[in-house]
Amino acid sequence: MRISFLPLSAALTAASCLPSPAAGGFYGDPPDETHPWAIHDMNRPQPRRVEPGTFSSQEQPGKPPADAIILFDGSPAALEKWAADKNPPEPTKWIVKDGTLQCVPGAGYIRSREEFGDCQLHLEWSAPAKVEGNSQGRGNSGVFLMGQVEVQVLDNFNNPTYADGFAGSVYGVNPPLVNALVAPGQWQVYDITFRRPIFKDGKEIETGYLTVFLNGVLVQDHTPLEGGGGHMGRSKPHPFPEKGPLKLQDHGNPVRYRNIWYRPLPKRPAEGGDGSHLSPEATAAQRKAIATGIRAGADKLTGRDQMLHLMESLTYEADAATTTKVGDLATTWWKSITETPASQLEAKKGEIMQVHNAVKYLVRFKMLPDSFPLNEGIRKLIKDNSWDK
Ligand code: MG
Repeated sequence: MRISFLPLSAALTAASCLPSPAAGGFYGDPPDETHPWAIHDMNRPQPRRVEPGTFSSQEQPGKPPADAIILFDGSPAALEKWAADKNPPEPTKWIVKDGTLQCVPGAGYIRSREEFGDCQLHLEWSAPAKVEGNSQGRGNSGVFLMGQVEVQVLDNFNNPTYADGFAGSVYGVNPPLVNALVAPGQWQVYDITFRRPIFKDGKEIETGYLTVFLNGVLVQDHTPLEGGGGHMGRSKPHPFPEKGPLKLQDHGNPVRYRNIWYRPLPKRPAEGGDGSHLSPEATAAQRKAIATGIRAGADKLTGRDQMLHLMESLTYEADAATTTKVGDLATTWWKSITETPASQLEAKKGEIMQVHNAVKYLVRFKMLPDSFPLNEGIRKLIKDNSWDK
């Protein structure tokens, strides 16, 4: 249920990291040691709007979301976004044919010229319709996140192999949860989220994760990377750079790709990013920044508006000078209320209830003392007028 009252100002901005002053608080549980935002905090930035794309069919690739970075759109010119996986880079011998990017056996891996780290990655692949070979020799390619971690591409439609080398496996680490392939020659869709390992002072604090949907079916569920996998060897955790290329494997089969795009993902709290749950240090810093922003906005206001905004800032950060100022403003406001003729009081019910709600909240969560001047008087006024009914 919401809303028992509306924010004073509609000046919430969607884009900024820090809130503009809103005085929309005093509702859900307040910020705490590891959560910089209150529950249902109206100051919390609105989600950024992204125009979604469309789903693919076998006949036609879908449209990427508006903020996707396109790595292959089917045009011959898109080949310039790729290079042979050699140093220095040189043009790849893979070809674009009928709107698809096709592996030419013997040409070697290709890599994107674009480099990126944590991402949402979408791509579609198709193993040769003409079935040849078996086990790892049938329709083999691979999608290498940051050039290091392979999500296996393989025609396992009717082709057993070792489980941790199946299509949809994190190769050498974890088999797919299920085999959700369609027949060779058809398009298979990968939707992947990749999180690289995070190291701090030489120690791994997050192992890195892969989530993979194959044709809309979950096949990797936040799988720990455990070093990232590989052929034959058991991989060991090691630091990853910030960014790396996407690589596609030449494993000797003419596998085709289409509709390749990614969206970079925001930093996680462990590397200084935002999130619901932060370290105590990061939480304190963010709460201070929010309070500072609200107080800066309050400086431009007067009277009750200023008081409510300053009160709101106290929910993020205690500050003696602000508390004193709130007390002064409250005294002035309360004087104006007590001097209001009884016949005009009803017209002020809305603002009185709003201040009451704020004071009640701040006293309840010990951000203002029980003895706060308004606390008793305002309660009595509301009772006397039966506004609490
Ligand atoms: Mg492979």
